[in-house]
Order: sequence, then structure tokens, then C-alpha cells
Amino acid sequence: MARAAKIERIRTHVLRYRLKPEEKFQSAFSTFHDRWACLVEVTCEGGLTGWGECLGPARANAATVADMAGLLVGRDALDIEPNWLLVYDQFRDQGQRGLTMTALSGIDIALWDIAGKHFGVPVNRLLGGAFRTSIPAYATGGFRPVERKRREAVVEEVSRYAAAGFTGMKIKIGFGIEDDAAVIGAVREAIGPDRALMIDANHGYDAVEAIRLGQRVAEFDIGWFEEPVVPEHLEAYRDVRARQPIPVAGGETWHGRTAFAEAIRLRAVDVLQPDVCGCGGFTELRKIVAMAETAGIRVVPHVWGTAVGMAAALQAISTLPPTPPRHEAREPWFEYDRTPHPYREELAGNPLTFADGRIGVPDGPGLGIEPDPQVLAAYAAE
Ligand code: CA
Repeated sequence: MARAAKIERIRTHVLRYRLKPEEKFQSAFSTFHDRWACLVEVTCEGGLTGWGECLGPARANAATVADMAGLLVGRDALDIEPNWLLVYDQFRDQGQRGLTMTALSGIDIALWDIAGKHFGVPVNRLLGGAFRTSIPAYATGGFRPVERKRREAVVEEVSRYAAAGFTGMKIKIGFGIEDDAAVIGAVREAIGPDRALMIDANHGYDAVEAIRLGQRVAEFDIGWFEEPVVPEHLEAYRDVRARQPIPVAGGETWHGRTAFAEAIRLRAVDVLQPDVCGCGGFTELRKIVAMAETAGIRVVPHVWGTAVGMAAALQAISTLPPTPPRHEAREPWFEYDRTPHPYREELAGNPLTFADGRIGVPDGPGLGIEPDPQVLAAYAAE
């Protein structure tokens, strides 16, 4: 019988970088003044340590993880599924979605990291094995800068991504149909016809506007139209899908398999975007992927975090089965955030590799990356 890995301590690291005025940017509904992160560190007796990351408000996630920790200390870290269910059962009444699930995601990822290190294999081996060792990355950026004119700034930015070798990119919209259409057209012209271009409204439209925008910009060959409307309105997602030609994507704010089951049953999206740091960790993600696969819906996970969250996503995406089945398989994308964030990759002692438009899947034990204590200290929030 395998040795146990008894959990001794669970702690969080809340990190913060204050963006300089010229680095600040906006999505449809928010302005980014800081880059926050909540990392979870689970330590076992004997010193084995695993890392995870929580999507969303860092301090609130940290408080929730601290509350959950008491349930898990003294238990075997390798009992991943029983540990997940123990926490979920205790928080279910107020926590089927939202912060409870994002906090639990960070813990779950850390437990899988521990299991990988315990058995000496990357997490993707524990999940059944990888279909690929590197993943094509699309650049996420193209937000509206606070201090510059949007159109020229976004065109300059996507041109940089094209020059860096990205074969796909995603820009932010949700700033009004006229302005968005002009920026999308300018971006398509700048990057040429061969690179993939996705648009993300961060639910800044309602169905009427989203449909009009989609009809208007479909000629620019858009890979998907992400979060056209607020995530609560699944029927509005269906309207947008039915009444404009661009494939619809969403899912980064849906948590847990029940939320995804509803979206999948309604066929609310063409492209499902669970985030391993938000949907419930690897444990829940694989159930969500199984449902999407059963329904014939594409999965392209959402990624927005530091090297820890990125490594978790890479492990997860490497295990997504090729769909549809054919010789020249369609590959899933890795979402590569390129917005200002000084410690995003600096955090990894052994940095993630990007070459020829692809990002390598770390092949060390667990997540395959280890946060640098000096970087953790340098960006620790007061
Ligand atoms: Ca998004």
C-alpha cells in the first residue's frame, strides 16, 4: 500500500502588484488597478508540498481557504476525491458556486500537485495521460488602456503578438457596437487573414446588442464570441447563438458540475471554457469535460493567473481528448494572458517555455513548476 501523505498545514499567499498608470487597463465592466493572486500551499508531514491557485478576489479566496483548512488538516492528501467532497458537503448550503468553488479549486490543485510529487509523475499522468506535450497558445490582451486611445493601442499590441509568433489572439470588446466593430476590423487588417482572432465582451452586452455586433463583425472571421451576455442568462446565450453567425464561448464564471450541466443541457455555448482554478479544480474539471464530450461541445479552458494556475491549466489541457476524431486533429488552445503582470511567470523558478506559437507542458512531477520563495516575498500583499 502506498504511503500516506498526511496534511500538516494549509496556508495561502496573497500577492499584489500595483499597476502603473500607463499599465492600467479596462474590460467591459472593470478597471484593473492591481494584479492580485491567491496561491494555496499545502504541506504534508515530512515536508511534501503542493501548490494551487484560486481564480478571483484574492483576499476573499484566502479567507475561504483558511476556513476550509481545518477540515483537511490531519487527513491524507492523496484522498483527493474524498477530501473534495468533505469540503463541498460542509460548504454546500452557501457555496455551490462562487468563492467556495474558487477556494476549493486552489486546494484541489495543490492536492493533485502533492499526488504527482508523491508518485513522481506529472499530474497529466495521474489524469490518464497526455495527448500532447505542447499546446498552441493564443495571446489574451487587447483591453482598453486607461491612458491611451483604444484603437491604436490595440492594433499596436496585436501586431506585437503576431511578431512574437502567436497564431491566435483575443481582444476585449463591450465598449459599444460602433467602437468595437472599428477596432475588430482594424485588428483583422493588422494581423492578416491567417491568424485566429477571438473577441471577448466580458458580458458587457445584452442579447439584442450582442446579436447586432455578431452580425456586424462576422465578416472578419472571428473564432469565437466570448461571454456576450451575463453568465446567469443561459437562455440569452442561446439567443445569441441562434441569431448571429459567430460561435459563442463562455464558462469561466460557471462553477461546479451542476452549473456546467445546465449550460451543456441547454447548449448555451459552442465552446465551453471551464477554468481549473475556478470550476472546482482538476477533480471537477474532468467531470465537466466528460459531460461536454458526451454532448459534443468543444472545451477550451479559461486561464487567468500566475505560473501556478498556468501550469495547472497546461496539465489539464494536455489531457483533453482530440475532437472530432480524425487524422489531422483539431488542437485545443492555451489562453496566454499577455497583459502587464510582472510576477505571472517570474514566480516559476523553472519558467514555462514558449516557442513557435506553442507553450510546453511542464513534465516534472506534479504541476511541474515550483514557486520561487523570493518572488512570493517580493509581491506579498500587506
Ligand atoms: Ca474571458
